[in-house]
Amino acid sequence: MRLLTAMNDSPYSAAIVAYVASMGVEPHVEYSPDLPSAGFSAHIDTRGEMVSAISSMPVERVNFDGEKIAALLNGTAALIVDCNLSALAISRLATFANDRGIPVYVSAVSEEKSLRIAAISARLDGIFINQNEFRFFCRQVLGARKSVGEAARIIGAALLVTEGAHGSTLALPDGTETHIPAPEVNADGSRLGMGDAMAAGVVFLHELLGLPLPEAALKSLKLVASVGASPHCHKGKPGALETAIHGFQHHASHDAMTDIPNRRRIELELSKSLSRVARGTSKSLAVLMVDIDHFKSVNDTYGHNVGDQVIIAVARIIKECLRDIDTAGRWGGEEFVIVLPDTAVDAAALVAERIRSSIEARIKEPRPITVSLGCAETDSTTPEDMEALIGKADQALYRAKKTGRNRVAAWTATTAAV
Ligand code: GH3
Ligand code: MG
Ligand code: MG
Repeated sequence: MRLLTAMNDSPYSAAIVAYVASMGVEPHVEYSPDLPSAGFSAHIDTRGEMVSAISSMPVERVNFDGEKIAALLNGTAALIVDCNLSALAISRLATFANDRGIPVYVSAVSEEKSLRIAAISARLDGIFINQNEFRFFCRQVLGARKSVGEAARIIGAALLVTEGAHGSTLALPDGTETHIPAPEVNADGSRLGMGDAMAAGVVFLHELLGLPLPEAALKSLKLVASVGASPHCHKGKPGALETAIHGFQHHASHDAMTDIPNRRRIELELSKSLSRVARGTSKSLAVLMVDIDHFKSVNDTYGHNVGDQVIIAVARIIKECLRDIDTAGRWGGEEFVIVLPDTAVDAAALVAERIRSSIEARIKEPRPITVSLGCAETDSTTPEDMEALIGKADQALYRAKKTGRNRVAAWTATTAAV
């Protein structure tokens, strides 16, 4: 499945794209920095029905490049167009698809937006619309209330009109109507997202499996229920997008194995702390570099999986030894870097010693594990850059290793010479 859309280039957009991709959809996004963020807010009543919603989909300002559309349509069995696009964009997409013999369906129609398809409805294979939108469409475009069957005959396209708990009515262009029961409600009692799921299900069963439309609509209920039951489906829960975005941010900034910040995140923390020191808003900053002793032989003796468990245990103990404002991250392999803001080297050495002794006391399996630590400091009188500070911590660590391991060494001017 392919998704063509447009977004600005914010991290929020990146999170949405990653979310879409995680659900097995191939995203094709036209990025434009001028576009505002997409937003959606809904009022859902205690029965789980949507009472009202406001959405802002900047995609209506975008006219997609013809070549891009053509390339994307290549090899697709059907096109489902969203009415958030402008009337012009919808019409161009439909033309491209019509020219290639690809069926075109329209969904996510809202009252006013239904007018965007008035002029091209005869070129569509099907329209998915809810009861309110259908009434509006009849009044505005057909000039009077119509039954679903009459409307389908007049506009020359199949219509699936959904009516929440009452199910939906499918009408074919010859005017015949079929009643489709409502899909099961989501686990949270809502029917949010069911319309889109129905649209996708019906098109899939009709175009790809060749079922006649009424049968496809009846069978799609099962497909919709399976989408609702999928762990990826957030079912329109309040805060679902925020949860998803938070999940992706966490994923992007944390090491998957130990669940502590990754190197990129630690570098970011370090550069923020360093600029506070450089500006003088923080007096000092210390970093610790931690490395597990003789770790290679743990792997060699007990296997990589046991080695992984040791790394995870070390990360957990390091975290427990720190204050809230400190950040420990996985620097690589069996090495960790800890950023200690507003900390001078003596205090940092105490933290380092606490980490060293905790690990020595607590990790006894598969054999006693120890770590060596190097510590270095910078202060506002002689601010340093990241590379220099990390380099000093690394030199101190090297000295801790050389002088016997399972110990802490602080950087001093003479360390470098050792
Ligand atoms: P030293 O005391 O001098 O630090 O010796 P060492 O054996 O710990 O150091 P060395 O750098 O030779 O070995 C580090 C080993 O860590 C080698 C590498 O295979 C292993 N390693 C790196 N990342 C991982 C990981 O994610 N999981 C496991 N199990 N091992 C890892
Ligand atoms: Mg190492
Ligand atoms: Mg090591």
